[in-house]
Amino acid sequence: MKRIIIIGAGASGLFCAIKCKELMNNVDVIVLEANKQPLKKLLATGNGRCNLSNKSLSFDQYNGEVTKPIQEIISQFDDQKEFLEEGLLTKWMGNLLYPASEQAKSVAEVL
Ligand SMILES: Cc1cc2nc3c(=O)[nH]c(=O)nc-3n(C[C@H](O)[C@H](O)[C@H](O)COP(=O)(O)OP(=O)(O)OC[C@H]3O[C@@H](n4cnc5c(N)ncnc54)[C@H](O)[C@@H]3O)c2cc1C
Repeated sequence: MKRIIIIGAGASGLFCAIKCKELMNNVDVIVLEANKQPLKKLLATGNGRCNLSNKSLSFDQYNGEVTKPIQEIISQFDDQKEFLEEGLLTKWMGNLLYPASEQAKSVAEVL
């Protein structure tokens, strides 16, 4: 059994933990969080509504040297489908994607 330790139970860390469990066999995932509760920042995002994504998500907005994998992830990632698979209904409001409930709490519960 492989053991993966993720530092930080924010949106990134928890989504990563979910994907590790979904995509890898025989893996034990541990998430370490310094705060008493996970997802503290996520609950405040988008004025408590949690803006999950936007239509102008573009590879050009990423800096750094590791460009090819980022490009592949962005071109293949279907935000609405991914969140639906985790049990979260979402909706577009203009260019911005929100949970259908318009509450960050719904996203926190799913994660
Ligand atoms: C007011 C506000 C509104 C925002 N609105 C939006 C929005 O609408 N849409 C959007 O996409 N983004 C928004 N953001 C940005 C938002 O913070 C990020 O998108 C999201 O929270 C990033 O998640 P993360 O997991 O990368 O980081 P974080 O949420 O910061 O999570 C990192 C976690 O790691 C923990 N940690 C750090 N170091 C350690 C350690 N050494 N040991 C253990 N634990 C550790 C931290 O305590 C924290 O819980 C907003 C930010 C703020 C402040």
